[in-house]
Amino acid sequence: MKRSLFLILFLWTAVSLVSLWWNLERIKEHNLDTMVQTARNFYQLVVIFREWNAKNGRVYVPVSEFTPPNPWLKVPMRDIRVNDNLTLTLVNPAYMTRQVSYMTKYRGNVKIRMVGLKPMNPSNSPTPLEEEALKSFLGGKKEFVKREGEKVFYMAPLFARKECLKCHATQGYKVGDLIGGISVLVPFSSSEGDVFPVVLVHVSVWFLGVGTVLFLGLRLRRAYTDIEHQASHDPLTGLFNRRELERRLKKEFDLSMEYRVPLSVIMCDIDHFKKYNDIYGHQAGDWCLKRVAEIIKGSLFRPGDFCARYGGEEFVVVLPGSASKGAMRVAERIVDALKRENIPHKGSPFGRVTLSMGIATTQENYTFASAEDLIKAADEALYKAKKAGRNRIVIYSS
Ligand code: GH3
Ligand code: MG
Ligand code: MG
Repeated sequence: MKRSLFLILFLWTAVSLVSLWWNLERIKEHNLDTMVQTARNFYQLVVIFREWNAKNGRVYVPVSEFTPPNPWLKVPMRDIRVNDNLTLTLVNPAYMTRQVSYMTKYRGNVKIRMVGLKPMNPSNSPTPLEEEALKSFLGGKKEFVKREGEKVFYMAPLFARKECLKCHATQGYKVGDLIGGISVLVPFSSSEGDVFPVVLVHVSVWFLGVGTVLFLGLRLRRAYTDIEHQASHDPLTGLFNRRELERRLKKEFDLSMEYRVPLSVIMCDIDHFKKYNDIYGHQAGDWCLKRVAEIIKGSLFRPGDFCARYGGEEFVVVLPGSASKGAMRVAERIVDALKRENIPHKGSPFGRVTLSMGIATTQENYTFASAEDLIKAADEALYKAKKAGRNRIVIYSS
């Protein structure tokens, strides 16, 4: 019972933990998807701006400290001197992307980089991770994602377009060739806000489950204990019933045989009890039975001794380890206690409720084949006590 309760609790805890782990994994996955989508959007934005630049045939920008003429751009009319104060220089998509990428270094957490497969400008060379991504693009992959600690690395390819070849044709590129890629590094947002409610719900449901299991388990256990008690006890007197007596007596009998220690049983029967019922009524008879049961039980002092209601007004006392002498002392104790109680009985020649008793003991003068035999012998002794005039104790003899 206890073990199955623990097993259920263990399984419930395991299911709750698996569910919690699974949900947390889903949240992590969802967060990763969101970050990848963010990175993808950044990439798209850069590509659109690059296209804008290329479609306008590249753009002229005043030369400044931020935008010096691009030494890697080797085309005629790269710089146009307008007057003493203004010189314009050509900014192609690569130069523009590099400038944007440079600006992201100092702004926010998102980092953008343009990387060339065969870069004209060495600062556009790929890092090992970017090189791994470029290789995967050569193998046909459309994008590359990797979680790098607290950041998500995203990279997508750049293919040569007609406009690109104005600058890149010298490198042997044709339209559609992979010329490089754009990498975006996005910080991985910690998801404590999403995790807390999930953990809270799981912990609450777990407690609820444990509470329910314990509540039902304890009720079931109580019901089980009740049934067990009912199955082994006499409802009127609260003593063991005959079934339980037989079960316990068999155990004691076997021990007595195995260890050669005596075992005594006393069979007790209320004298003239039919008359008691007739005179005082059945209810008073029940009360009398309960009182006699209490007196018998109250006369047993050793922890191993026990008594049971054998039948209507018959009781059996079992005394493990007691020889007939000891059993006699217990029987006399019962007689004395009953005498002191002095329950009136007009129908009895003794004027009060009395008991007749038969004692049988193992490991003495007789050998008994079984517990039933021992009971039978005690019953025979009881019969002799009845025949001899009742209200007496007889030790079995054949
Ligand atoms: P003896 O001295 O020879 O033992 O006579 P007796 O009348 O005690 O024995 P008998 O076997 O003739 O009658 C037993 C009586 O016990 C009959 C029955 O009505 C009564 N009895 C058995 N069980 C109960 C019970 O649970 N409650 C009550 N009130 N009476 C019971
Ligand atoms: Mg009887
Ligand atoms: Mg009787």
